[in-house]
Amino acid sequence: MLQLFLKKDRDHPVRRGHPWIFSGAIERIDGDEQTVSVADVYDCRKSWLARGLYNPKSQLRVRLLTWKKETIDQSFFSRRLSQALALREQYFANVTNAYRLVNSEGDFLPGLIIDRYVDHFVCQFFSAGMELFKDHIIAALSKVAPTTGIYERSEGRVREEEGLEPSTGILEGEGPPDVVQIEENGNKFLVDIKRGQKTGFFLDQRDSRVFLAALVRERTVLNCFSYTGGFSVYAFAGGAKEVVTFDSSMPALELAERNLELNGFADAPGEIVKGDAFAYLKEAERRFDVIALDPPSLAHKRSDVDPAAGGYKFLNLHALKHLNAGGILITFSCSQHLPADLFQKIVFGAAVDAGRKVLIVKRLGHPLDHPVSLHHPEGEYLKGLVLRAVD
Ligand code: SAH
Repeated sequence: MLQLFLKKDRDHPVRRGHPWIFSGAIERIDGDEQTVSVADVYDCRKSWLARGLYNPKSQLRVRLLTWKKETIDQSFFSRRLSQALALREQYFANVTNAYRLVNSEGDFLPGLIIDRYVDHFVCQFFSAGMELFKDHIIAALSKVAPTTGIYERSEGRVREEEGLEPSTGILEGEGPPDVVQIEENGNKFLVDIKRGQKTGFFLDQRDSRVFLAALVRERTVLNCFSYTGGFSVYAFAGGAKEVVTFDSSMPALELAERNLELNGFADAPGEIVKGDAFAYLKEAERRFDVIALDPPSLAHKRSDVDPAAGGYKFLNLHALKHLNAGGILITFSCSQHLPADLFQKIVFGAAVDAGRKVLIVKRLGHPLDHPVSLHHPEGEYLKGLVLRAVD
């Protein structure tokens, strides 16, 4: 096993349970430095600290798995998956049959995401180390949960940074059907696991959808960046008078239409509109009582934060202009690199420029299937503000 020694005074984060070791913290490596492998991490005095997965191609050189001397094998992953499953089973039995089973660092499995859609599971391997243990993880998952099929959607920037090619397809069992029907808080949704965005559904907005549903009775609603209509279905279920569902993705909107139909809202007042939300918010004439504004991440890396701030300000400024007096804006940022206090400042700037007086009535964030490790606050990517424009 690779042995890795940290520079003097660089052991503190590891001792406090932070799971990341960057290349700059490493003094010396004993073993095959060129190969992805399990690594034991020591401080500069050669005292053992933790065990993790090493990738020579990534600046994030080690992602720590454990602070105990336990073997990293199938049984290790079974234990972690069972813990993750127990949390969800305890709270979700009557809430949803779709949830995030493994939330990377938040479930002490950095680099691994597993989402569950009824009995279909979707995995994303975002680190070369996790990729190494793919077979063990799949075997462990099949034992821990009743799976009809396990599908892979390992794509995107993070894979590239790890020196990995995209990888998608069936990992075990049956491939998913074109759409899987899930049920969340009594609302039904069709999820396209193979071609949808991310793993098919934005499970992380479940609690926010519930919150919105409670605010919209007899109100007009704009669901801006709607994806497959999550907020729209909840809005109608909550008694909304009219809902406009807006997104730039045709496949997403086609599913949004089917989702409205599936829940009995095919003829409910409103429309489904395809377009660019930036242009729509700038140009649209009409106002709404409630607006949900849930853009994709505008900052994918730290250096994107400045331009992203401009994008968030633009969206929030124009959304606020479209609110009726007393109206509610539920606004989100899912950019991990944009901290909550900065997001709030951006929205404040937007309110000032929009000439509105605005209250924060609630903050929204991760549901319990997206836990954040207290030792890894960077995992808290989703920030929501519920705002009331008082005049
Ligand atoms: N609120 C949704 C998730 C939104 S994800 C839910 O609860 O399911 C972000 C969405 O923004 C995606 O559906 C994507 O297609 C859409 N999108 C990205 N850029 C856009 C743009 N410029 N205009 C409109 N929609 C856009």
